[in-house]
Amino acid sequence: MYSPDDFVPISALQHYAFCPRQCAIIHIEMEWEDNLLTAEGKIMHSRVHSRDDETRGDIHIARGLDLVSSRLGVVGKSDVVEFHRSAEGVKIPGRRGLWVPFPVEYKRGRPKKDLSDKIQLCAQAMCLEEMLGIEVREGALFYGATRKRLDVVFDDFLREQTELVAKKVHDLLNSGEIPPPQYSKRCRNCSVIELCMPQVISPGCVRDYLAKIFGGEE
Ligand code: SF4
Repeated sequence: MYSPDDFVPISALQHYAFCPRQCAIIHIEMEWEDNLLTAEGKIMHSRVHSRDDETRGDIHIARGLDLVSSRLGVVGKSDVVEFHRSAEGVKIPGRRGLWVPFPVEYKRGRPKKDLSDKIQLCAQAMCLEEMLGIEVREGALFYGATRKRLDVVFDDFLREQTELVAKKVHDLLNSGEIPPPQYSKRCRNCSVIELCMPQVISPGCVRDYLAKIFGGEE
């Protein structure tokens, strides 16, 4: 269990799972370069948050809920939590019946090969479980580029990965250290590439650079 002074943003888990160096640059150096990707992402999130809560049939849609988990040591805000009417669940003030929460996170781009978005969503689900005392089995990621919604099951594996990443984020932020860059394909979509400069700083790239200057073999 973490105390509130030690809480980290839920988004830091997504950043860490994408790249630990990105997480450190954003959350230790507090540097955040707005590039086209982050600007589009912010617009998309503000559109989601600016709309009112509503009920459509058996689904109540709540936007911008505060989320917190002492177990993971995280705090944040949801994009959307759908409450699905069900035989078991929690009560919602002013509405009849029982409702099960189903978190939905909006992403600007496309589904990623890594688990970063799913880990962020699973952390939101684990917050809701801790806050409401109810199991949250599923949620969804909505991707702006494909206009498609991807259902996510919060299975044991994803929960373990989420706990592991949360612990690593705490360790990283406590250490205050910035890991070295590892240049790879993901860097092309990274919001902090201008600050990171992975092609200049990566050990392999420096070796190539020196080899070019001094002509290859030692
Ligand atoms: S540019 Fe690449 S190495 Fe640097 S923070 Fe982004 S993903 Fe990580």
